[in-house]
Amino acid sequence: MTHIYNFSAGPAVLPKEVLKQAAEEMLDWHGSGMSVMEMSHRGKEFISIYEAAERDFRELLGVPANYKILFLQGGGLGENAIVPMNLVGRMAQPATVDFIQTGSWSTKSLKEARKYCDVNIAASSENVRFTQIPPREAWKLSKNAAYVHICTNETIDGVEFQFTPDVAADTGNAPLVADMSSHILSRMVDVSKYGVIFAGAQKNIGPAGVTIVVVREDLIGQALPICPSAFDWKLVAENNSMYNTPPTYGIYIAGLVFKWLKKQGGVEEMEKRNIAKAELLYTYLDSTGFYLNKVARDCRSRMNIPFYLKDESLNDTFLAGAKERGLLQLKGHKSVGGMRASIYNAMPIEGVQVLVDYMKDFEKKHG
Ligand code: PMP
Repeated sequence: MTHIYNFSAGPAVLPKEVLKQAAEEMLDWHGSGMSVMEMSHRGKEFISIYEAAERDFRELLGVPANYKILFLQGGGLGENAIVPMNLVGRMAQPATVDFIQTGSWSTKSLKEARKYCDVNIAASSENVRFTQIPPREAWKLSKNAAYVHICTNETIDGVEFQFTPDVAADTGNAPLVADMSSHILSRMVDVSKYGVIFAGAQKNIGPAGVTIVVVREDLIGQALPICPSAFDWKLVAENNSMYNTPPTYGIYIAGLVFKWLKKQGGVEEMEKRNIAKAELLYTYLDSTGFYLNKVARDCRSRMNIPFYLKDESLNDTFLAGAKERGLLQLKGHKSVGGMRASIYNAMPIEGVQVLVDYMKDFEKKHG
């Protein structure tokens, strides 16, 4: 059988070793006689799985002791409501929240936030079709913002922050909130620069259904009265993410991924590999007029690389040929068309090389 490389944007490729281990442990986890799926979340077996996952994630991302790590449900879109419900209550009402609009996901976030607060779009790259991140100097932040929201990697548009913005001085010390769903654990992050980091698991962490929230402790405890209890960070934190039943199996798989990441050399090593993988593909894209990537060079994502065939009538032929070579799920998001290669942590550089080789062959044949 042809070796398969899966370029899906998410749910996405997971390390083979992790899937194998999960398969081996499926019916009987460590001699317990139970599948992890069958365990009470309050039993000692699952608590040990949970604690190891929390500890390993804290170590991998370098989360300081004054931050809580919460394992929730609701996904990235759920957090678009959960974040304002937890953060705007600290301010006089109606509170204002600043958004940096850099693509489809930050746009969804700001539309949702409008249900809970006034939204100030402090900077936007919509006028250049989200091919850039507006430079920090151009942001028009509010004096008294409840928080500043950024999406540090736009999965659809393929732009990624290559800097950590300092917003405190211009906003009366507003915390920075980052949606890191599609690049968490792919690069080093100084967590202390953020008030809140959130990420859906289904790209770099594990199966869909787990959402990780990293939140500075002083931001917890002033949720709006309308906030559902299961999403009130105070209740969730006080109960070690077990106020309600957490997504136990997803947390278990995430824990295996964290162990795998540590074995690879941690986030520092993944970042090196991710730079090399992205360079391989971008270097080829830059060398040809047959394919196009529209993103400004200093804003290019290392994780999600959208590209277009100059002759779009060849799209279906390109995708069919890719599939024959075992290169799956390269079709771009329906809102932007074209192609997209998502090359998360679990994608080896060999997969990117096979893709580039295929793209070259396709160009030779059709160029
Ligand atoms: N934010 C980003 C950056 C994403 O890529 C996605 C999903 N692709 C979401 C939010 C939404 O996540 P979910 O579907 O888990 O709600």
